[in-house]
Amino acid sequence: MRIAWESFEQETLDHLAGLIRLDTTNPPGNERIASEYLAAKLSRSGIEPTIVEAAPTRANLVARIAGRDSAKPPLMLSSHTDVVPVEAARWTRPPFSGEVADGCIWGRGSIDMKAKCAMDLGLMIALKRAGVIPERDLILAAVADEEAGSELGARYLVENHPELVRAGFVLNETGGFTLFMGERRFYPVQVAEKGFVTVRMTVMAAPGHGSMPRADTAIAWMADLIVRITRTPMRRRLTPLIRETLGELGIAPEKAPPLFRPMMANTVTPTILRAGYKDNVIPGEASVILDGRTLPGESERSFLRELREIVGPEPTLEVLKSAAPAEASPDTPLFRLIKSRTEAADPGARAIPWMLPGATDSKFYAQLGATCYGFAPVRLEPKMPFGSLYHGNDERMPIDGMLWGLRLYTDVVLTFLGLRFEDVFA
Ligand SMILES: [Zn+2]
Repeated sequence: MRIAWESFEQETLDHLAGLIRLDTTNPPGNERIASEYLAAKLSRSGIEPTIVEAAPTRANLVARIAGRDSAKPPLMLSSHTDVVPVEAARWTRPPFSGEVADGCIWGRGSIDMKAKCAMDLGLMIALKRAGVIPERDLILAAVADEEAGSELGARYLVENHPELVRAGFVLNETGGFTLFMGERRFYPVQVAEKGFVTVRMTVMAAPGHGSMPRADTAIAWMADLIVRITRTPMRRRLTPLIRETLGELGIAPEKAPPLFRPMMANTVTPTILRAGYKDNVIPGEASVILDGRTLPGESERSFLRELREIVGPEPTLEVLKSAAPAEASPDTPLFRLIKSRTEAADPGARAIPWMLPGATDSKFYAQLGATCYGFAPVRLEPKMPFGSLYHGNDERMPIDGMLWGLRLYTDVVLTFLGLRFEDVFA
């Protein structure tokens, strides 16, 4: 039975509002409520999902529609169901309301990333209801804990249940939204993301009495090191991808605006500083947490070597967590499909490959061999401050822009599955 497109649109918006109303703030996460919501909708349409709890209430949901040709690598639609905390007092509308106002659906997660989760859910159900068989397996993964490092989410599934999430291609977050550069419009599609290396750096020196000032204390040394770290840029390196991105944008690398600088070097940022325990004691130890980010092609080791050059041989460096960068080739049929359909959906705009300085679940799925792209399309008006709504106050999704994206996303997914729009929708 083919599905009326308008009712599909409405259902997808309803799913988004429904998911926003489930408070999955991480910490603590409690993604089980989102998994239960998705599981109920899927099983009602005849798809039996698998729920894997990495810890109590930290649920991951995976579902699959088997394709005709098991030799073709599966396509996985991926999202995370947790959201970052809110400062509710600073919101114009309640952050877990899913309210519709000013042409937007409001709420935490509306952009990051319950809208894509709603789209993925809707598409799975639509395919099942229409009774079509895709030419390759289609997997849905809606996972926990992305906002706190993916330990109980994508990383857990990749390490403990790889058979559930092994795919040839993954469509995940961050990409496909309108980027305005002067008069021109672009759609960045994430093909690469930086890795991270979180380090605790500690220095020790003789303790003493606060009434006897000295220059050689752990605090003074740490202060020096932090100034050095924040004022010493790490080595600039242009990967072929960033050259291509800047080339598409017509920007010379040496003239690249601040937005692009983290894409051209490893970076290191002090984030948590600790020293001292009593107001009249000079502490013998000071430590700082350093948020390190690595370019594709770099490793934990090469990053630590570069950090050493800045801080010298003496401070202790202890790696608390790390994950490798990931990069996929834009030279694939799926990327070409994304590019051509996006450019057709917004004539005059260009879809371009992009590197995310942050981290997503893609880096974990890539470890199982998947080619991962960030493609969760939304068309924006120039006045919509989309980027700043990620993790910001008043996060909201423009409905028109989301429905434009839903149509484009549906086209890309169905075409890649060897299906036509008319096979599923009327
Ligand atoms: Zn996200």
